[in-house]
Amino acid sequence: MTDTDLDTFRTDTRAWLAAHCPPEMREPVRSDKDVCWGGRRYDPAANPAQARWLAAMAGKGWTVPDWPTAYGGGGLSPAQTKVLREEMAAIRARNPLNSFGISMLGPALLKYGTEGQKLEHLPRIARGEIRWCQGYSEPNAGSDLAGLATSADDADDDEGGDAYIVNGQKVWTSYADEADWIFCLVRTSKASKQGGISFVLFDMASPGVSTKPILLISGYSPFCETFFDNVRVPKANRIHDENKGWDVAKYLLGHEREMISGMGLAAGGRNPLVEGAIATVGLDRDGRLADPLLRAQIAQFEVRARAFAAMSERFLDELKAGRAHPAQPSMMKYYGTELNKDRHELAMAAGGADTLEWESHASRGGAAARTWLRTKANSIEGGTSEVQLNIIAKRILELPS
Ligand SMILES: Cc1cc2nc3c(=O)[nH]c(=O)nc-3n(C[C@H](O)[C@H](O)[C@H](O)COP(=O)(O)OP(=O)(O)OC[C@H]3O[C@@H](n4cnc5c(N)ncnc54)[C@H](O)[C@@H]3O)c2cc1C
Repeated sequence: MTDTDLDTFRTDTRAWLAAHCPPEMREPVRSDKDVCWGGRRYDPAANPAQARWLAAMAGKGWTVPDWPTAYGGGGLSPAQTKVLREEMAAIRARNPLNSFGISMLGPALLKYGTEGQKLEHLPRIARGEIRWCQGYSEPNAGSDLAGLATSADDADDDEGGDAYIVNGQKVWTSYADEADWIFCLVRTSKASKQGGISFVLFDMASPGVSTKPILLISGYSPFCETFFDNVRVPKANRIHDENKGWDVAKYLLGHEREMISGMGLAAGGRNPLVEGAIATVGLDRDGRLADPLLRAQIAQFEVRARAFAAMSERFLDELKAGRAHPAQPSMMKYYGTELNKDRHELAMAAGGADTLEWESHASRGGAAARTWLRTKANSIEGGTSEVQLNIIAKRILELPS
């Protein structure tokens, strides 16, 4: 595509977004309830502007702009996708659909799924019809994920069809109680640790699946213990070969870490950190933040945040060109999540004692404090910071194991 074609694409995209992105969808997201996750239980009537925005974007395949059109995507090139993201950021458009299907399962299916599996699942992910959850961690398998014990044994074939019977427990399964389907790691062989794992998909409404929410320090219950009691899973739902699930799992984790690292990037167009600090300490006569210490801390933070944004952009370009180092997602995950935790520490300091309010209307139910507490988990979810540093040490610095 020539520069002129790309300019035309930018002009057309800008006009289309101006016409189709409702004003409400250009407002900052205020809580998890503001986020559209789609799925069978999604109620479009609860937020008509959000539903219009999702329908418009899904109609163009722009919930997944760089996926092929055959699978519900927009078929855009990397350069066009970047233009779309820039134009959305310029009008502060919200992401039309948050989805583990888009950020995690989709890329794994595109690489490892059969044509039938892609056609069955990807378009439904792109339209937000099915909400997915991730069944990786277990009570004794977190950082040491390959130690997982949830078993998938061959079914006695009385019921017909080739199937596994799955038994075991997952933990920290985000939104398991709201998800429609799960992508899940199971043990199909005890002969080898990594080499005995398979990657399967199944409906959370299958008989034998149950969930129990876990209450967090922030007062929310975004994740669950998930139990499988003789759950029948057709072998046709296995992605890639039996006992080769570790390859799929690792590939997916790279995409998960990339998604989580995005937390380190500030929302385009406005700076809530600076706005919050101005509201608390005000400006001096020269129009600068009145508290010099806070001003210096925020300036220092902004330098790190901008350096991270530049590094992210370079990394994504390298990834799309197939030149990324395999440990780069770990670098991004580590730095992005540590940065996000620092951002919220600073936001709490900038907001003063008021940000510790928990229930008042003015604090929107303690939104700042709850978000700050939630960020504590950023450096744990998707693989802890310590584990990312181990990967970086081994793969990039080539230190011995
Ligand atoms: C908010 C949130 C959402 C999550 N969502 C999901 C989900 O949807 N699905 C899912 O499957 N899982 C999910 N998880 C689980 C997550 O992947 C695990 O918590 C994570 O991998 C760490 O495992 P663990 O909790 O068992 O801790 P452990 O592995 O027990 O680690 C405990 C501590 O030991 C350290 N440690 C462990 N091994 C090493 C080592 N080799 N070197 C140095 N230090 C080490 C860790 O860094 C950590 O500080 C989620 C977690 C959180 C916090």
